[in-house]
Amino acid sequence: MSKKCPVCGKAEKEGREPFCSKRCADVDLGHWFKGNYSISGHEEPDEDEVVEAIKSGNFKGDLPQS
Ligand SMILES: [Zn+2]
Repeated sequence: MSKKCPVCGKAEKEGREPFCSKRCADVDLGHWFKGNYSISGHEEPDEDEVVEAIKSGNFKGDLPQS
C-alpha cells in the first residue's frame, strides 16, 4: 500500500483508497463533479454515476466523518 493520496499526497489509508481520508475523497469528488460540470459545460453529471463512483471508490457505507 504505497500509493499516495491524489489530493494531499499523504499515504492512502486502507478503506479510503486511493485517498488518505474521507475529507480528501470528498474534496476530490467535489473537484471531479464541479470540473466535469464546468469543463463540459453542456451536460450535468449523471447523478447515478456519481453515486456509483462513491460506492465503488471510497465510501464503504460507514458513518460520515467530520
Ligand atoms: Zn489526502
